[in-house]
Amino acid sequence: MTQAQPRKAAEQAVLTVQHVEQVSPDLIRITAGGDGYDAFRDNAFTDKYVKILFADPRHGLTPPYDLARIREETPEQLPTPRTYTIRSADPEQRRLVIDFVVHGAEGIAGPWARGAQPGDTIVVSGAGGGYRPDPAASWHLLIGDHTALPAISSAIEQMDAAAVGHVQLSVADHADRILPEPPPGLKIHWTDTDDELLAALADLPWGDESPHVFAHGERGTVKAVRALLKQREVPRESLSISAYWARGRAEDQFQAEKREPIGQIE
Ligand SMILES: Cc1cc2nc3c(=O)[nH]c(=O)nc-3n(C[C@H](O)[C@H](O)[C@H](O)COP(=O)(O)OP(=O)(O)OC[C@H]3O[C@@H](n4cnc5c(N)ncnc54)[C@H](O)[C@@H]3O)c2cc1C
Repeated sequence: MTQAQPRKAAEQAVLTVQHVEQVSPDLIRITAGGDGYDAFRDNAFTDKYVKILFADPRHGLTPPYDLARIREETPEQLPTPRTYTIRSADPEQRRLVIDFVVHGAEGIAGPWARGAQPGDTIVVSGAGGGYRPDPAASWHLLIGDHTALPAISSAIEQMDAAAVGHVQLSVADHADRILPEPPPGLKIHWTDTDDELLAALADLPWGDESPHVFAHGERGTVKAVRALLKQREVPRESLSISAYWARGRAEDQFQAEKREPIGQIE
C-alpha cells in the first residue's frame, strides 16, 4: 500500500517593499523584491496571482512561516492569506509589482497597502494563474471591476496589434480608470456601477463567433455575467470566470463559501 505523502508546503518569498506609489485615488502600487525573490515561482499567465501572508505583529513570527507547525501548535497565530494579482515581475531586478485597491478602513490587505513604507516585509506564495489572451481567438471580451484592472492591464499588454474585442469595466472614480494603450480593435467601455456594466454587456453587439472571455470582480456581478454568457451560449472552455471578492465578506469567508452553493459560479 502506498503511504500518503505529506502535503508539500508552498514556498514563501520573503520580500522587502522598495517603492510605494499612489497611482490613483484608490490604487496603491507596491514594488517589492530582494534575495527572497528566488522563492517566487513565476508563470506566463496574465492573471498570475499570489497569496500574501499577513501575520499579526503581536505574535512576533519570523518569515518564512512554518505554517504546519503554527497550525498544529498555535492555530490562532496563523498568518491571514489575501490573494493579489502580480501586475508585473522582473526576474533580472528580482522584484515584482502588485496594485492594491484601497477600499476603506476595513480588511487587512487594503489598510496594509495604505500604510506600507519602503523597508517593510511582504511574504508571498505562488504564483497561480490560468488565463492569457488566446492569439487565435476571433474576438476578446474582458469584464471586470477595480480589482481586475491589474490582470486586464497585463492581458492588454500581451495582445498583438490585430486583436479585436471589448473591455467592459466598472470603476466609479474616473481618476482610477487607468489602462495601457489597447490595440486599435479593442474597445474600452467604462461604467460607474456594476449594474450599468451588466446593462452595457447585455447591449453589446455580438456576431456569430464566440469570444475568449476573462470576467472577474464582485461575486454577485460575476454570477450575473455568467448568466448573460450562458444566454449567448459561450462555451465553458472559452471562459476564465470567477469572483475576486464578495460584498460584505472578508476573503476568508468568501474563499470558504466557494465550497457552498452561494460561492459557486459554473
Ligand atoms: C485571483 C485574485 C486576484 C486578485 N487581484 C487583486 C488585485 O490585483 N488587486 C486588488 O486590489 N484586489 C485583488 N483581488 C481581490 C482581493 O483579494 C480582495 O479585495 C480582498 O478581499 C482584499 O482583502 P482585504 O484584507 O483588504 O479585505 P477583506 O478583509 O477581505 O474584506 C473586508 C471588507 O472589505 C470588503 N472588500 C474587499 N475587497 C473589496 C474591494 N475591492 N472593494 C470594496 N470592498 C471590498 C469585503 O467585502 C469585506 O466587507 C484579487 C482576488 C483574487 C481571488
